Amino acid sequence: MTQYFDPYNADRPLMLKCGCGKDHTVAEHQQEASASSATVELKRRSLTSEFEAYSNAFIEATLVKAIFPQDEVRRRFLRAVGKGTAMAAISSVLPMASLQAMAQDKNALEKTRLKIGFIPITCATPLIMAHPLGFYSKQGLSVELNKTAGWALIRDKMINKEYDATHFLSPMPLAISMGLGSNQTPMNVATIQNINGQAITMSIRHKDNRDPKNWKGFKFGIPFDYSMHNFLLRYFLAEHGLNPDTDVQLRVIPPAEMVANLRAGNIDGFLGPDPFNQRAVYDEVGYLHTLTRDLWNGHPCCAFGTSTEFIQKNPNTFAALYRAVLTAAAMARDPANRELIAKVIAPSQYLNQPEAVVTQVLTGKYADGLGKIQNVPDRADFDPMPWQSMAVWMLTQMKRWGYIKGDVNYKQIAEKVFLMTDARKHMKDLGQPFTAGPTYAKHKIMGKEFDAAKADAYAKSFAISKMG
Ligand SMILES: [Zn+2]
Ligand SMILES: [Zn+2]
Repeated sequence: MTQYFDPYNADRPLMLKCGCGKDHTVAEHQQEASASSATVELKRRSLTSEFEAYSNAFIEATLVKAIFPQDEVRRRFLRAVGKGTAMAAISSVLPMASLQAMAQDKNALEKTRLKIGFIPITCATPLIMAHPLGFYSKQGLSVELNKTAGWALIRDKMINKEYDATHFLSPMPLAISMGLGSNQTPMNVATIQNINGQAITMSIRHKDNRDPKNWKGFKFGIPFDYSMHNFLLRYFLAEHGLNPDTDVQLRVIPPAEMVANLRAGNIDGFLGPDPFNQRAVYDEVGYLHTLTRDLWNGHPCCAFGTSTEFIQKNPNTFAALYRAVLTAAAMARDPANRELIAKVIAPSQYLNQPEAVVTQVLTGKYADGLGKIQNVPDRADFDPMPWQSMAVWMLTQMKRWGYIKGDVNYKQIAEKVFLMTDARKHMKDLGQPFTAGPTYAKHKIMGKEFDAAKADAYAKSFAISKMG
């Protein structure tokens, strides 16, 4: 038994139950204590009338923005019909009406016990923190958060209906809805979870080899084929003259295994989600080469979504979920809450990471692994708006790299999967004088402008691609 209890061995912890009665280490005890006091403080902040007013206004503004992505169109509409008519029209369409009805009548929920999947990464911050902060229960929902090992499993559990809703990589609902890599099942992106927040992390062995032009033959980890990670890494490599299909190897590795693979030398680097980029620095096995924020500032990464069938069968439950996640997003956007949020989501049942790692990611004050402390407040951010132009960009890259064969109706797919124009369609059905106009945002990726209106030409414009 001495191998278990060896009180005179300086190199081993003394394995006895913690003073609190739980079977965990002192470090875990401290992490739990710090998480619970942070939870108390964030809950207190969430219950202030100031935050409630802010978060209601945020949710309403998000919905109005979803109906009128172009502010010009919103203003024209308001001027044409007046505020009262506009509010009545908007509240008669998804999901504001159900949101408001919900507050009075929790019985309207079609389903109250829900299983939600997540991957333990900082992208999922809003949907994770909504759990300990009681945002789901406040909406009358009893949510079980299911930590899941990898993205293929998330996809399968959504198709098999084991999960009611989930944390997705934002390209996944597009791929699943098109039947790419799985049975075709209509899925929707309800909100984007996070923007930015990813990085190219390179092995510390390559700390003096930072020019991507010299990376021929390298092996890189990505979390999934249908991920912004894959598309951004491919884009980045191609811009530096490397063909991602023939000059390097890309390997799908679950996020939680990326650092171990880097340490073992199985890969030279990865474009992965946090906290694993920062974890590689913390473990002294890697350095942060490029933040994805510097490739495309404001790029979407993960999403919160569910199947189209679930939304159709449970519109009120969906609205309640939507509201809970958006309330969390409203809180996560405020930099003043980030340190506390890091403490809340760091423990084992969520991210299972040292608090210091998560804090560096969420505050943007971090060690880069090359001896410098950086200060990039928007390294990770939480903007829920599911711009359809972002979906179109993802589709252009799927086309570019051969995931989609044949012609693509970019807009049709984007509008079906990214829930923005559903409400607009209802508005038209209601006979509202709504002029469609241009509804796509423009984005800049590595200095080059992307205009969703010219998607096909864009997909064909790249020197390095898999299109024949
Ligand atoms: Zn304890
Ligand atoms: Zn993500």
